[in-house]
Amino acid sequence: MSENTCPKCLNPLVWQAHYHCLPCNIEYQKRALCPDCGSEMEKLQACGAANYFCPRCNELKSKSRIRFDFIPID
Ligand SMILES: [Zn+2]
Ligand SMILES: [Zn+2]
Repeated sequence: MSENTCPKCLNPLVWQAHYHCLPCNIEYQKRALCPDCGSEMEKLQACGAANYFCPRCNELKSKSRIRFDFIPID
């Protein structure tokens, strides 16, 4: 199962500059949410690996615990 699925139709999203659902014809932005406070997190690129920082908790979070949300782009 893909981790990137359309929240509306649950089909896998295709990467085309943005995440794109072909059946719905909607583009999505992927958003990382803090598992502890629910705030949107900042993605930090370091040494080729992505880290996620929560500005509200003021700490880095383990990627395995982060929830991802797909927001439609107008
Ligand atoms: Zn869809
Ligand atoms: Zn947080």
